Amino acid sequence: MYPEELKKALADMGEKPFRAGQIFSWLHKGAKFSDMTNLSLALRDKLASEGVDQPVAIRETRVSQIDGTKKFLFSLLDGNCIEGVLMRYHYGATLCISTQVGCKMGCRFCASTLDGCVRNLTAAEMLGQVHCANTTLDGETVHNIVLMGSGEPMDNYDEVVRFLRLVSHPEGLNIGLRHISVSTCGLVPQMRKFADEGLPVTLSLSLHAPNDTIRRQIMPIAHRYTIEETIDACCYYIEKTGRRVVFEYALIDGVNAEPACAEELASKLRGMQCHVNLIPLNTVKERNLFGVTEKQVRAFLDVLEKRHISATRRREMGDDIEGACGQLRNKVMQEEQP
Ligand code: SAH
Repeated sequence: MYPEELKKALADMGEKPFRAGQIFSWLHKGAKFSDMTNLSLALRDKLASEGVDQPVAIRETRVSQIDGTKKFLFSLLDGNCIEGVLMRYHYGATLCISTQVGCKMGCRFCASTLDGCVRNLTAAEMLGQVHCANTTLDGETVHNIVLMGSGEPMDNYDEVVRFLRLVSHPEGLNIGLRHISVSTCGLVPQMRKFADEGLPVTLSLSLHAPNDTIRRQIMPIAHRYTIEETIDACCYYIEKTGRRVVFEYALIDGVNAEPACAEELASKLRGMQCHVNLIPLNTVKERNLFGVTEKQVRAFLDVLEKRHISATRRREMGDDIEGACGQLRNKVMQEEQP
């Protein structure tokens, strides 16, 4: 709840509205109702019986031996589970969170979508992932957030926007919106609406192809919206927010990794305030798609650089702990099925 909503809910319970500020600040520290020591015992009990204070718990943690990246399997109150990844960079801890249980977008290379979308997460369940990660950081707190775990944020629009407003609230976790990235496979109408929200987060667009023919082979959403419409929506985002857009491009052998693809991509993005993030594909064993060699990445990057398109290769982290979207959840679900 936003503070105003909390005030109203408390008034409806016959409580004083100023309690809303106290409760809001406790909840955003990840406290349980029973620990809210400046409330009367009676109120603490009442809240505990009517509300939910901790919607997410860590069920399993895997720590990468290579780089210390932590992969969490979180459990939700209805028995579903989701994933998050905590990466330690020199500029601060970065947490990747999920926005849905599963995903219905059907991208061919992605493990999250293999069993479809079970349900949307609530804003509270997104906040819960941040609180859980903070408990593992001894003193430090999550500094950057990327909405790049399982799920399509623009397909859970209202709860994602609520989460962004709450997580950046000065009385709450107060994480700067400029430290948050929202990634989408390109739901054009929602992207345009999102540009109008006045939330200066970084928008990442999962492009993965330089033209519609290739994009349609790997991303069903490309049948719904053309690259042209999608890039137009990105330009609108840049215009409204003044923020550059990041294009995600996973290199897939024999599909989108030829230097000619880089040329075509460069011509599409010319003059745009953007950055291209080349992602080495994480092979998902259920899919028959494979990544490329370091030499192929270099060649692709060279073309973009020659064409003056800002681009980098994303560092891989947590490769030894099923770091990529949906991989750990799938593995655990398979192990649990007889
Ligand atoms: N639904 C959103 C956010 C979740 S996916 C989106 O599509 O952007 C986060 C990023 O990981 C996306 O860019 C997605 O295309 C990419 N991704 C998914 N599976 C991958 C894989 N196997 N290897 C590399 N990147 C992958």
